[in-house]
Amino acid sequence: MASFPPSPLRADIAIIGGSGLYDPEMLSDVKEIKVYTPYGEPSDYISVGVMRGRRVAFLPRHGRGHRIPPHRINYRANIWALKSMGVKWVVSVSAVGSLREDYKPGDIVVPDQFIDMTKRRDYTFFDGGVVAHVSMAEPFCSQLRELLVEAARERGYRVHDRGTYVCIEGPRFSTKAESNVWRNVFKADIIGMTLVPEVNLACEAQLCYATLALVTDYDVWAERPVTAEEVARVMKENTEKAKQILYSLIPRLPESPEEGKCSCCRSLQTALL
Ligand SMILES: [Zn+2]
Repeated sequence: MASFPPSPLRADIAIIGGSGLYDPEMLSDVKEIKVYTPYGEPSDYISVGVMRGRRVAFLPRHGRGHRIPPHRINYRANIWALKSMGVKWVVSVSAVGSLREDYKPGDIVVPDQFIDMTKRRDYTFFDGGVVAHVSMAEPFCSQLRELLVEAARERGYRVHDRGTYVCIEGPRFSTKAESNVWRNVFKADIIGMTLVPEVNLACEAQLCYATLALVTDYDVWAERPVTAEEVARVMKENTEKAKQILYSLIPRLPESPEEGKCSCCRSLQTALL
């Protein structure tokens, strides 16, 4: 992994915005920075500003105007850029489909596991030179997950404090047969296209990372077709929920991850060969 020269704009916390959450409108005193990385360009300029007294960086995963499809996102550049800014906490916000009846459109899920069904992405910073196999037994930061669930509960939203996210390659959606495999054979709970390799690169970069997954609709297994208007309405409501949850979350985050509450920052100690 290339070293991280310090960026002139610093932040402790980063928000990676997904579908629906593009604008850094939650931040005040915003400055934008273009970060150059050894892996190419991040999805967009990174906005750095103040939210509830904390320095927060915001990066829209698909770029402004939703230009970049999930399989073309430069995940390595995105994570590298945030790390170079001194970020310790990464909250990833994403829209997902539901694979089970009781995870309803409008619900919030803070997943604790994932299954990778992507096909051709750049999955690692350790592409040769140094060999590292990071543990993915518990892929998300336990400390950040707990705080996200608390923040969502404080706002009175329906939140599921665990779930398995199956990440597909896209950009097409699943067939019914596939959807039934994810649901009945894999026992996955939600489905999306952007978690991998964002989550494992964050782990390699020793960042505390968790996902706020917002259910927009039931995946195709349910045979419950929805109109574009319905999806747009739920996404709009979900975006507002995500903002409220982030607003509650930010002041709860310690300056640095608390010793002993997670092992994200030490993920490379046992990984390097
Ligand atoms: Zn952590």
